[in-house]
Amino acid sequence: MRFDAERVRKDFPILGQTVHGKPLVFLDSAASAQKPQCVIDAISRFYAHDYANIHRGVYELSVRATAAVEQAREKIARFIGAAVNEIVFVRNATEAINLVAASFGREHVGEGDEVLITHMEHHANIVPWQRLCQEKRAVLRVAPIDDRGQLLLDAFEEMITTRTKIAAVTHVSNALGTINPVEEITRIAHARGVPVLLDGAQAVPHGRVDVHALDCDFYAFSGHKLFGPSGIGVLYAKAARLEAMPPYMSGGEMILSVTFENTIYKEPPYKFEAGTPDLAGAVGLGAAIDYLRAQDLDAVAAHERELLAYASDALAEIPDLRLIGTAEHKAAVLSFVLDGVHPHDIGTILDREGICVRTGHHCAQPVMQRFGIPATARASLALYNTRDDIDALVAGLHRVREVFV
Ligand code: PLP
Repeated sequence: MRFDAERVRKDFPILGQTVHGKPLVFLDSAASAQKPQCVIDAISRFYAHDYANIHRGVYELSVRATAAVEQAREKIARFIGAAVNEIVFVRNATEAINLVAASFGREHVGEGDEVLITHMEHHANIVPWQRLCQEKRAVLRVAPIDDRGQLLLDAFEEMITTRTKIAAVTHVSNALGTINPVEEITRIAHARGVPVLLDGAQAVPHGRVDVHALDCDFYAFSGHKLFGPSGIGVLYAKAARLEAMPPYMSGGEMILSVTFENTIYKEPPYKFEAGTPDLAGAVGLGAAIDYLRAQDLDAVAAHERELLAYASDALAEIPDLRLIGTAEHKAAVLSFVLDGVHPHDIGTILDREGICVRTGHHCAQPVMQRFGIPATARASLALYNTRDDIDALVAGLHRVREVFV
């Protein structure tokens, strides 16, 4: 059955408004996605009916709140093909990666060891590793990409040495849209005994992810890009990895018993969830996953692929416009530069037309350096976008050219 984006749009109340007197055209879902009404309702219902702190309470409300948060964990586990005890609630993908760098990384990376990343990583998958390497006098190695923004897989493989302690690779690049062959990457790294962290922040909202099938050791993502609330994210880690890792943050909730001499920690995932988490955020993320599961995810993916092709062809017709990131396997992200116009000016003029695109380095400055540019304008699509949105973007870009070129 054909995917009905117009029907889906009605589920997202924010999309119905006008901005500067023009219908809102939201093309910035890679930065953060909009929320369907059912997510907003689930959060509101939780606060209105079931809210209390979890795990500690013996009273009805606390029991209900605990059940709601734990059900959300189960939904997430099922959604990505994990076991429930492999799902750690964190604030966002950034925190998930920091957790792995600080816990697994500090244990395993020593002087002269190596951490392997790629040239297309988001800062969230660079800086934690860089800091770890600085602290441990280890070496951060960076696998190269080609002019289309594709990982050079042979080079990646050659860069794995006996000193490589972890490979940390994005599943989908936020700045270029490149979809990495993560199954193959994991297989290559594992064949050399190297564990793999995948940054799934841009992947989970757009297709099926099965972490057990991928066989990655760690998988990180944020709720807010998955049509859920901000402030909640997920670290998936293989159960055996979590068992072996020391806590990241410590304090309440993650302990079985405490004396001044010693503390006994809870089992994972709770060992990694010190303090009160974003309870309503977890519930909202669970509702977002319910929403997505009610869609035909293959039809969503096909819809986004079709829109990407339509948008790529349309942008190719605009004089002086250059797409940055033209990988063969690409998610619905269109990063571009327009000769003679600063990306911020593109963004500002499009905003006057009601069109939201992101401009800047997209937290991926090394990608910009690789392509010799300071910034791009980026349109990123989700299930609620339509050809009308792309037509509006193209008309807006002609307007930009009228003003500047
Ligand atoms: N990784 C990628 C590929 C991203 O696109 C982003 C956000 O844009 C992040 C990590 C960080 O996500 P967050 O800011 O939600 O932690």
